[in-house]
Amino acid sequence: MGRRADDAGTAGEPPRKPAIERSEEVAGNQMGGAGREGSPRGGFSLTTPLAGVAGIGSATAGALRRLELVTVGDLIKHVPMRYERHQAEESIAKVAPDQIVTVRGDVTATRVAGPFGKQRFEAVLLDETGRMDLVWFNGSYLRSQIYPGLRLRAHGQAKRRGPGFQMANPKFLILKEDAEEPPPTEGRIRPVYSASEAIESAGIERAVGIVLERAVGQIEDHLTTEYRQKRSMLPLADAYRLAHRPETDVDWREARRRLAFDELLLFQLGVFMRRAQQRGGTAAASLRWTVEIDARIRARFPFRLTEAQDEVIQQVAADLTLDRPSNRLIQGDVGSGKTVVALYAMLMAVATRKQAVLMAPTELLAEQHFGSISKFLSGSEVRVELLTGSVGGREREATVARIASGDADIVVGTHALLTEHVRFESLAVVVIDEQHRFGVHQRATLREKGEDPASESGSGRSSPHVLVMTATPIPRTLALTLFGDLDVSTIRELPPGRSPIVTRVVSPAQSAEVYRWVASRLGKAGEELEQAYIVVPAIDSGASAAGDGGDADLNDLRSLQARLEQGELTGKRVAALHGRMSAQTRDHIMARFRSGLIDALICTTVIEVGVDVPSATIMVVEHAERFGLAQLHQLRGRVGRGRKRSACVLIAEPKTPDAEARLNVMAGTTDGFVVAEKDLEIRGPGEVFGLRQAGSPPFKVADLMQDRELLALARRDAVAWIERSPRLEGPGEELLRKRLLRTHGEWLGLGDVG
Ligand code: ADP
Ligand code: MG
Repeated sequence: MGRRADDAGTAGEPPRKPAIERSEEVAGNQMGGAGREGSPRGGFSLTTPLAGVAGIGSATAGALRRLELVTVGDLIKHVPMRYERHQAEESIAKVAPDQIVTVRGDVTATRVAGPFGKQRFEAVLLDETGRMDLVWFNGSYLRSQIYPGLRLRAHGQAKRRGPGFQMANPKFLILKEDAEEPPPTEGRIRPVYSASEAIESAGIERAVGIVLERAVGQIEDHLTTEYRQKRSMLPLADAYRLAHRPETDVDWREARRRLAFDELLLFQLGVFMRRAQQRGGTAAASLRWTVEIDARIRARFPFRLTEAQDEVIQQVAADLTLDRPSNRLIQGDVGSGKTVVALYAMLMAVATRKQAVLMAPTELLAEQHFGSISKFLSGSEVRVELLTGSVGGREREATVARIASGDADIVVGTHALLTEHVRFESLAVVVIDEQHRFGVHQRATLREKGEDPASESGSGRSSPHVLVMTATPIPRTLALTLFGDLDVSTIRELPPGRSPIVTRVVSPAQSAEVYRWVASRLGKAGEELEQAYIVVPAIDSGASAAGDGGDADLNDLRSLQARLEQGELTGKRVAALHGRMSAQTRDHIMARFRSGLIDALICTTVIEVGVDVPSATIMVVEHAERFGLAQLHQLRGRVGRGRKRSACVLIAEPKTPDAEARLNVMAGTTDGFVVAEKDLEIRGPGEVFGLRQAGSPPFKVADLMQDRELLALARRDAVAWIERSPRLEGPGEELLRKRLLRTHGEWLGLGDVG
């Protein structure tokens, strides 16, 4: 009676039937335990520590605390990770061996058997169709609970025993004559919570049961009724109630939908709020884009741009003509021609007498960009400069001076560009190659370079346009989540004349055979030149990203080199390349490789990104199981850049299912988008995007793969919302703003808004 009153009094909800069939999970003497009867009488709020809630013992509270569930609110937010539907009841005759089933029948006989101390309790259960023997080991205490004449529901695994079936230690429920029972065809939905050794899912379920009704009655919604109805979203309180205690599949799906949407919406609002903050009042140079300028830029390229490049150039160029700073991600598979698009943008800056900068993640890449850009621009008046860590002394001073005076038009470099000594005269376009290697902060630093008040126009801040190129294609919607403050352009086609790369995965036992085949293709007299990369991993996997593994790695590289020079590749011109070499040495070796003076380059992952040698047609990767998918795809992208058919051989000994899956993906496709999607499936989005590293809270409910539609919806709404109310300070937005800042304020650097 009292409980009914509580229920009705909470949130003006129509009273729900109390959850039924609680006892299936509760064996024997625990039946009807703490659950409902323990309902709190004392008051508590969402911030009350669980230890202070009547009905939750200190042991339970302690176990929950170790799951970082301290308060009532924490527990409510700990929604089930999945749901199990309990099986419908079966008639005994239909039970199959080893099946987990629920049956119902009359107890016709019971007995205690076995030696003292090891006594078991046995019962015979009959329904209209057959007989099931039940046995509880050490269960003699049950004799007072279960006796002939009772109706019983039993749940457990049915094992064949003689002509019939036996269930050992089944969970059971004694059915009362007049009890309301669920329809026999429908099983109850059980929440499954992420649990621990100290407390299992059922224990969490019980604790939730104690606080749920009262707690959800106190949950305030940060979305208005109007907005919720427009998006067909449940009220927050209902979402939590149904997430914990669904009666139907629709219940938990709807609950999940609202909770996932909340996470995505808050995240996106945060991202766009930051963008509004960054752009607020900031001007950018509006660059000129005329037919004449377009023609002049195109004339610099010795080829026709692909349609895909043209399309992206339209988008980029349109951005650059605006007087507000633009922010665009250009994604395209390796070799799709992103650099050319970036150069187009940079030349637009030059045409308006402004400066542009291209920042690469490694010196090797910076040097290569510098080389190819200089080549495209040879004979023109555009002044291109290179600034990396190994440009030193006088030369560096002179370069920095030319950048500051405006005598440099295009500057190519590495992190070295980020030091405060480097100032631009009028920086209008920033291009960042290989985004995933740079953090959000570095992007911001580079953007600030454009804010030097060199022009003293007196009209406040001015920022450059920012273009980010990534050769690790990211599924579009996901890119939008992470780089929500970037517009996205995708180059979907490769320049013509590329032949597909054949990929093979082989075992280390076949390595001699592989290298004999490599030798047969290298440096054939009278034929077009073919060259090979042979990549060895960093042994210390922590160093592999930097491409310069530990000493052990270099030894590995050297021993392979020694083996091949004296063995399979005797007589071929073999050289080594690794990150420990000085930039000059690497340059020298790359130059020799590029001009065909080296047949095979044995290297670490320094060549992972961007290196472009069209006559390199063979890529061999040793210990390929140690590389990530994105890395393998990048490595493979070093070949297949010319007309000649290329091959990628992955020598691997996968020791984990994930490693095996990665190799299968590589063998199965050359499409970078497919690779990226699979990478997500295998690793999960958090890792792929370094979301965790970036310090952003991971999503608890939302699944970036599964909830893409919801994400798109959240993004659309967030854009419009922030446009309307950039600081979320409108009427009715107080709670939303508070929750947003609490979840995302810190990592998005929104603290100062709050
Ligand atoms: P990405 O940076 O996307 O990996 P690049 O811009 O380095 O690709 O281009 C790869 C190679 O293709 C370069 O040698 C480049 O000069 C060439 N290339 C780019 N666009 C075209 C095109 N439209 N037609 C022919 N070759 C192209
Ligand atoms: Mg590139």
